[in-house]
Amino acid sequence: MIIDDQFYDVIIVGTGAGGGTLARKLAPTGKKILVLERGFFPVRESSQTQDIELFKKEQFHAPEQWYDENGEPFYPQTSYCVGGNTKIYSGVLMRMRDRDFEAVEHQDGISPEWGVKYSDFEPYYTEAEKLYQVHGKLGDDPTEPTHSEDYPFSEVAHESHIQTVCDGLSKQGLHPAYLPLGINQQGRTDAEDTGITPILDYENVTLKTSAQVVCLHTNPSGTEIKAVEAKVGEQSYLFLGHIIVLSCGAINSAALLLRSQNEKHPNGIANHSNQVGRNLMKQQLSVVVQLMADANSGLFQRTLGINDFYWGNGDYTYPMGHVQNSGGILQDVIFTEAPPVLSAISRVLPGFGIRQLATRSLGWWLQTEDLPNPDNRLRFVGDKLHIDYTANNVEAHDRLVHRWIDALKQVEASQPSMFNRAAHPRSDMPIQVVAHQCGTCRFGEDPNTSVLDLNCRAHEVDNLYVVDSSFFPSNASVSPSLTVMANALRVGDHLVERLK
Ligand SMILES: Cc1cc2nc3c(=O)[nH]c(=O)nc-3n(C[C@H](O)[C@H](O)[C@H](O)COP(=O)(O)OP(=O)(O)OC[C@H]3O[C@@H](n4cnc5c(N)ncnc54)[C@H](O)[C@@H]3O)c2cc1C
Repeated sequence: MIIDDQFYDVIIVGTGAGGGTLARKLAPTGKKILVLERGFFPVRESSQTQDIELFKKEQFHAPEQWYDENGEPFYPQTSYCVGGNTKIYSGVLMRMRDRDFEAVEHQDGISPEWGVKYSDFEPYYTEAEKLYQVHGKLGDDPTEPTHSEDYPFSEVAHESHIQTVCDGLSKQGLHPAYLPLGINQQGRTDAEDTGITPILDYENVTLKTSAQVVCLHTNPSGTEIKAVEAKVGEQSYLFLGHIIVLSCGAINSAALLLRSQNEKHPNGIANHSNQVGRNLMKQQLSVVVQLMADANSGLFQRTLGINDFYWGNGDYTYPMGHVQNSGGILQDVIFTEAPPVLSAISRVLPGFGIRQLATRSLGWWLQTEDLPNPDNRLRFVGDKLHIDYTANNVEAHDRLVHRWIDALKQVEASQPSMFNRAAHPRSDMPIQVVAHQCGTCRFGEDPNTSVLDLNCRAHEVDNLYVVDSSFFPSNASVSPSLTVMANALRVGDHLVERLK
């Protein structure tokens, strides 16, 4: 083991939405910062990943096995590289709704209140939208919370098929809105281009890639992290720092804490509450496919979002969730991620030309908040990482799917020549789709029920912070990245003060 001869003011582990954003925020302080990233720089120049590539043959699943609660191995859909999962994300950068920060009654229980409110997050959402160059339009979506400033860039226009659906939804009295998108001339903005690349020239910043943190070591009393142990290439190193920030993603940060157990932290670091690794949320995610009469390229942006069902609709008064368009090519999603029966059905449906690039479909992503459940958790059996996850809020999600298909049918009835109305295949995302993972080290004021305080500092370890999606006490139905980025900026302000 080599002990690195430097002493850093801050060590940041992971370069995704949380870590990459925090590194960008702290770099101008001049403090000595070490960034450790287990992956390399991605081969792609920018985030141009299309859905067709993403789901083809599990291309973006990590080459490591996790295990489901039945002990079945799977390859998680997660990206280990500079930029983390923002290198494969869709760049939809939505704010949580203001009510998402409050306790909300769902059909399956209460979505807990956050200790920090929308008004506390608002300035950081604005800062994050500027940093990540978010394009959007205010005024169309009645659930959109108040913005202190308009989006920094105007909305991205809909592709013509999407515009047709958008018009049809408006005629039904729904409120289709432009999705806020982080985008620049190179493509989607992400935590590599926006977080890490701009700070590589700073003399006070050191980035080490292929540096997988494997253990945290505390002082004898267990009150501080004294050293971060990482495998850099094939060599083991110990790095020393004043402040240690984890941002490995919700599952990997919690796994690292659990793995680092010692005499003072027998259940894992910062885990006297027994909450580390619990309350894993990942939203109920489904794809609904709409069949078209004519082919389209399938390679267009997500631009359309619908939140009319977000807080409930009609006679169903519980929250249901969010809908957004996808690219048009979804056979790959269906074939690789769907239950075999649906795969088989979709193969014989007209419009699903296999191995063809053009497609006769539009895809719709549906997302429903899942609720924190302590039994949805990480668990080690020997060295093997098990993910116990039983879905909840399933009926709310099913209702969202049915409402959405009804809305699509009305659009199709008004434009019969455009659509093939034979079916609306649905595919539910299985355990390996951990894209929207969060909640495994939730923040709060009570050390008995939360892992982190409201500044995302571990209650029990004075110099340890976590800034990835672990801190979420509840999971909204919108996509999580902008909240992770905004929170990293918020914690960044706290750290700037602490480091003075
Ligand atoms: C296909 C896909 C599409 C998505 N689309 C959207 C979208 O449109 N909008 C949205 O808001 N969200 C989207 N998401 C979710 C979004 O990508 C995540 O919410 C976000 O990236 C989480 O940020 P994070 O900082 O928690 O973790 P990550 O971005 O996952 O970053 C974790 C980082 O830590 C590194 N790391 C892990 N373990 C270690 C270790 N032991 N040592 C060192 N480094 C380590 C990883 O390599 C990675 O760089 C999508 C996700 C996927 C997979």
